[in-house]
Amino acid sequence: MTDKVVVITGGSRGIGRAAALACAERGYRVVVGYASNEAAANQVVAAIEARNGKAIAVKCDVGEEADILALFAAADKFGTLGALVNNAGIVGKTSRVDEMPAERIQRMMAVNVTGSILCAREAVKRMSTRHGGRGGVIVNLSSVAAKLGSPNTYVDYAASKGAIDSFTIGLGYEVAGEGIRVAGIRPGLIDTDIHASGGEPDRAHRLAPNVPMKRVGTADEIANAIVWLMSDDASYVTSTILDVSGGR
Ligand code: NAP
Repeated sequence: MTDKVVVITGGSRGIGRAAALACAERGYRVVVGYASNEAAANQVVAAIEARNGKAIAVKCDVGEEADILALFAAADKFGTLGALVNNAGIVGKTSRVDEMPAERIQRMMAVNVTGSILCAREAVKRMSTRHGGRGGVIVNLSSVAAKLGSPNTYVDYAASKGAIDSFTIGLGYEVAGEGIRVAGIRPGLIDTDIHASGGEPDRAHRLAPNVPMKRVGTADEIANAIVWLMSDDASYVTSTILDVSGGR
């Protein structure tokens, strides 16, 4: 066990949960952010503690700056921040752009874009050598939607992930000389609850035949990429976005 802390937003379920368990296996103290499902977050903490790891659950809606400040304040009490996984993200119900209310688009951008940028800001303030930090890694969860555009489904979501790709490239360059690596992952169709929250629980499996590898991916397959990007094995990787999508 090191004193290194990783903050994972949306660590209670899906990809964030798998990343939390994988980071704990590699010795990180894990701050499990969650929006509302306290039971799921506590279950992740219990699973980590059962394997002699260290974790805490912190309620944090990344659409709220005050929650983000509280998340990082909790992380500060837990140890020295070494990594951030900007994982929290939402989709909307299947819709065309000409049907989208402004509130939906604003919430999408607040959570998926502004929330990720604000979390990165807090992480850079702690990890950058410019601010007396010891360096670290930021992994941003994008989506292949950034490339495909998701027409007739959720173009607003795809646009939010396009913003994450640009942010990953730009922030990576900005802090490359300050000990911080920044990388993105574009998952393809991954078997999590997110499709149900978009109104179509079976979406990933329905579209699986279109994937070159002819199957959906698992949250663990994304977590494996996250912990690789966080590791010293990826020590020369920054401003890079990795597709983990079965070829999609
Ligand atoms: P998921 O199964 O729906 O889980 C979402 C997680 O994020 C939960 O822990 C949830 O917390 C949390 N969350 C939701 N809204 C939040 C908010 N406003 N503030 C903070 N946390 C919030 O999602 P997932 O499929 O694992 O997706 C994780 C990331 O991967 C997202 O950025 C998503 O866009 C991206 N991604 C997923 C897929 C896919 O096919 N699954 C594909 C491409 C990209 P609660 O448990 O408290 O609700």
